[in-house]
Amino acid sequence: MEIISVVPRGYCQGVIRAIRTAGNTIRQYPDRPVTMLGMIVHNRYVVEACRNLGIRFVEDPAKTRLELLDMIDEGVVIFTAHGVSDDVRKKAEAKGLTVVDASCADVLKTHTIVKDHCRHGDVIYIGKKNHPESEGTVSLSPRVHLITNTDDVDALPQLHNILITTQTTLSILDTEKIIQACLRRFPDAVISEEICSATRVRQEAVMNLKNCDVLFVVGDPRSNNSSQLRTIALNSGIPQAYLIETVQDIREDMIREKERIAVTSGSSTPNALTAQVIRFLKEYAETGIWKQPEAITPEIL
Ligand code: SF4
Repeated sequence: MEIISVVPRGYCQGVIRAIRTAGNTIRQYPDRPVTMLGMIVHNRYVVEACRNLGIRFVEDPAKTRLELLDMIDEGVVIFTAHGVSDDVRKKAEAKGLTVVDASCADVLKTHTIVKDHCRHGDVIYIGKKNHPESEGTVSLSPRVHLITNTDDVDALPQLHNILITTQTTLSILDTEKIIQACLRRFPDAVISEEICSATRVRQEAVMNLKNCDVLFVVGDPRSNNSSQLRTIALNSGIPQAYLIETVQDIREDMIREKERIAVTSGSSTPNALTAQVIRFLKEYAETGIWKQPEAITPEIL
């Protein structure tokens, strides 16, 4: 049995920066309440570690970032790596909150592209509904139209001088299909595909795996980029792919009699969790003995 550690995997620069920003903010404002607007990243271990530092989170999937701000009346607000609209920024400042912005540079680049284009045309934005990054980008202008799949293209109104752009963490395979569907209806549209390089290289590394029997993606079930890695694996011909939160989700029947087992992780997954999975699988490969793995509380940086 061979265990393949897929490279690159795990934390991206945007997530590392957001986690560092959270820690720095607590140190910088020791006497003031610090609240994160939404989940820092979609990983419960990272959220828990930030809570232990003293950061409060406001999150409600039914509420927009603008509405969530009503739950913060004082102190410091941290915007997550997913980015926020200008309206959220203005409202936080109007409430007298101290703003700390952990928006990822890749998301801010998309915001700039969208805002520039909306001065003279319409934008088709390919993204996920109810995802904080889509919400932030779509709220930049009424000229931004969110679509999530090829079926949505026909429902779009007549648009003018169109730019097609994307959320940063989408599947490169699915996005290409949606872009082609857009071009069939709007052949003159200009494309600015904004899947970030961290997402892209992690997906390409999975697509390039050869003769692999099983892939484990270590990540939170709510993590979009982690679940995309699993889907990409299945679409690329890997017979079995599992999204696991920790080593404890692995069952012996998933790996018994398998020749080549690969491990990767989403960009919001603490490296310690992935390292534990790799160690566990290598030990099983060497000894053939199944030992029930133990839970750990991972360091997040
Ligand atoms: S996945 Fe990409 S866009 Fe999202 S935080 Fe990481 S680098 Fe930034």
